[in-house]
Amino acid sequence: MSVFDSLIGQAAVCRQLERAACERGTAAMSHAWLFTGPPGSGRSLAARALAAALQCETTDSPGCGQCHQCRTVMSGNHPDLTLMNAEGVTITVEETRALVGESYESPSSGRYRIIIVEDADRMSERTTNVLLKAIEEPPAFTVWMLCTPSLDDVLPTIRSRCRHVGLVVPPAEDVAQLLVSQGVDPQQALVAARAAQSHIGRARGLVRDAGVWEDRQQVVREAVSVRGVGDAVYAAANIMEILDNATKREADSPSSLRGASDASDAATSSPTKQSRGKKNADDPELAEFKRQLGIAEGQNVPSALRKQVRDFEEKLKKRQKRQSRDSLDRVMIDLLSVYRDVLIVQLGGEVDLMNIDFESDIRRIAAESTPEQSVRRIEAIGQARERLAGNGAPLLTLEAMMVALRPQG
Ligand SMILES: [Zn+2]
Repeated sequence: MSVFDSLIGQAAVCRQLERAACERGTAAMSHAWLFTGPPGSGRSLAARALAAALQCETTDSPGCGQCHQCRTVMSGNHPDLTLMNAEGVTITVEETRALVGESYESPSSGRYRIIIVEDADRMSERTTNVLLKAIEEPPAFTVWMLCTPSLDDVLPTIRSRCRHVGLVVPPAEDVAQLLVSQGVDPQQALVAARAAQSHIGRARGLVRDAGVWEDRQQVVREAVSVRGVGDAVYAAANIMEILDNATKREADSPSSLRGASDASDAATSSPTKQSRGKKNADDPELAEFKRQLGIAEGQNVPSALRKQVRDFEEKLKKRQKRQSRDSLDRVMIDLLSVYRDVLIVQLGGEVDLMNIDFESDIRRIAAESTPEQSVRRIEAIGQARERLAGNGAPLLTLEAMMVALRPQG
């Protein structure tokens, strides 16, 4: 099985990358790549597959998936591969400078030094400029691969220096097929693939973890049963609580979630590290960090190490903040799909519903409201997502959105 077989529903991209891999070692090869695609389409997995093919030991069809080079790249353990994903809400200038520094170190065991930036859209303009210089004239042994949701997420100056690989939303049937090949019941696989809007990692999470499935059901149920302003505010609080509990659950069983959202599905662009409970003091990662510094449990941090510990706590906090925003955004995307289904029913479209498990609610709302109202609801969710991305307060943003979703005669 070649490394490209792991890309789901991306036939055109596979052909493009196979051709590109054959250019390795020649002047035709590009040293800067831009992978775009909606979350869950597998853009970082596609970048990794190309990286594997560039390092592959096979000469005739690079990307064999069997050799040591291919396997270590795909598992993320290749010494000449750097995978960068945003720990915080943004990628900092310091983090980028460190990457640029690495890009000038010659590879140790592979043909190239490859740097994959999974969240290139989380860079500020100033940060991007640091990167730009490195991408303009990289050493002959360096390959940059940037991943973003769309071409608009990076500055034109970066875009124009990269070769573009555009992934599409894979068909839900292909995602379902993947789940079936992993032992999931076909009907359940299809419901999950549709509900996840073909987001591969999310679909996998839905079928593997009953808690994730139940959370989604509860969130949608909260939204579709809102009748008035009071309900809306109450529903917003309930949804925040569901998300909080999910975060705590993840913190308690990191191993089960690691399987659902980590290396095994590099196809997601969601954060790959586990979220933790709210209190950093209880954080196992912080405890481990302190142990490494030689600080015993319960012991006060010596003043010489205080800055290091504080910096680490800051980093954890940033990550938690990002993860809670990401999970709230996912809720909004779920609700967007519900009202899209409502609109489809209202317009009599012959398109499959995404939320098969909520068909009766969707038909009820479709009958009780007009297409104009559905469009307004969809817009309200879009605005809420923008506010959230622009650092709006999560609960207030969600409340305003739920109020806008209430039925209006
Ligand atoms: Zn290989």
